Amino acid sequence: MSEVTLEKIASLCKRRGIIFPNSEIYGGIGGFYDYGPVGVEMKNNYKKYWWKYMVDKRENVVGIDGTIITHPKVWEASGHVKGFADEAMECKKCHARFRPEDIDGKCPKCGSSDFTEARKYNILFNTEIGVIEGEKMPAYLRGEACQTIYLDFKNVVDSTRQQIPFGIAQIGKAFRNEITPNKFTFRTREFEQWDLQYFVKPEDMQKSFEYWKEERMKFYKGLFRNQESLRFHQHPKEKLVFYAKDAYDIEYLAPWGWAEAEGIHWRGDYDLTQHSTFSGKDLSYTDPMTGEKYIPNIVETSGGVDRTFLFLLLDAYDEEQLDNGDVRTVLRIHKDIAAYRAAVFPLVSNKEEIVKKAREVFGMLSDDYKVLWDSRGNIGKRYRYQDEIGTPYCITVDYDTLENGTVTVRDRDTMKQERVKIEDLSEAIA
Ligand code: ATP
Repeated sequence: MSEVTLEKIASLCKRRGIIFPNSEIYGGIGGFYDYGPVGVEMKNNYKKYWWKYMVDKRENVVGIDGTIITHPKVWEASGHVKGFADEAMECKKCHARFRPEDIDGKCPKCGSSDFTEARKYNILFNTEIGVIEGEKMPAYLRGEACQTIYLDFKNVVDSTRQQIPFGIAQIGKAFRNEITPNKFTFRTREFEQWDLQYFVKPEDMQKSFEYWKEERMKFYKGLFRNQESLRFHQHPKEKLVFYAKDAYDIEYLAPWGWAEAEGIHWRGDYDLTQHSTFSGKDLSYTDPMTGEKYIPNIVETSGGVDRTFLFLLLDAYDEEQLDNGDVRTVLRIHKDIAAYRAAVFPLVSNKEEIVKKAREVFGMLSDDYKVLWDSRGNIGKRYRYQDEIGTPYCITVDYDTLENGTVTVRDRDTMKQERVKIEDLSEAIA
């Protein structure tokens, strides 16, 4: 009915423990967010879902978990020390800074149209290794998670049974000193990325590129309700980096327009060649069957976990007009991503047999599912809360349960209620 806005999502996230602004008691800090009790469950489910799709279901993809700080030379080899730049223009009146693409004439803050020229700033986060003054080694927090995959490429080849073509997957934090973090968790300074680097023979690049492009779209389409809010955006040929033959973004139609969710990149042999050159170690691959030696080419799929999770929340958010005139807020999020599969309620909290029975149901279901206990307030309020956090089922133990061993199962999306036998519950909510 009414439009979903970023403000509504941010407010829901705060109200219901999905995402909190970081360091709020100190006035907050721009571009950093925490996941709350509900959000951490959702985000973990979301990452598990990706891992299953990208790693567990495939014969030839393996995972790693690399560090955030690496040898600083990595970032010289990757080009980040020289070229990891963000452009910003400053409003001469109020001194606020913006990315050039976010300004359509006037300063979004004060309305002035007097700006400085766009300037480039390096957005790698600096740190230092060591404690003795004068002996500290400058280092960086990784600006993209994928670099650790290239560093471990040879170790993975030598330690696993994988042969080309194969992929290395990773989910991990990346840090960018964004000049203008904005739009809630869309652009932050600390975030997670999910990456696949798929290593192939040079002549197989086109085929693999097409394959992963489609696979990644399939992944998002399996989770999003509004399929027409996802599309490919092909990078114009003249804007491609020199080693890329092609590049696509998967975009989501956010309240502020189409926005990048994930990139599918043609990296060729660039990364392994760079690291071979800078490290002096040969990162070529020898085909165990033919003896052929070459630098593998790479197809990369790199998406933002937090950013696409925000898109998923926007996609799932619904306000529904009820017959009695009330408005129901419901998060119609995919069942595998919802924080809890079900909530268990004793109808009343002052009747011992009912509470005891409900505890039994909770104990039984929690062997297989993440379930939530709620005995506070009336049933209507409990439903309202569960709808807002997207819990697919609410299970109520009531007086009839004590008579006939059935409970009420209420469906989040249809609000329909059904009586189900306790012994059939686990299967019913599966
Ligand atoms: P953008 O153009 O939006 O800055 P990018 O093209 O630099 O993104 P990549 O380096 O390709 O992004 O990173 C892969 C993914 O990581 C992006 O598609 C996005 O989902 C996510 N990402 C990048 N920067 C941020 C950020 N500052 N905050 C949250 N997610 C980010």
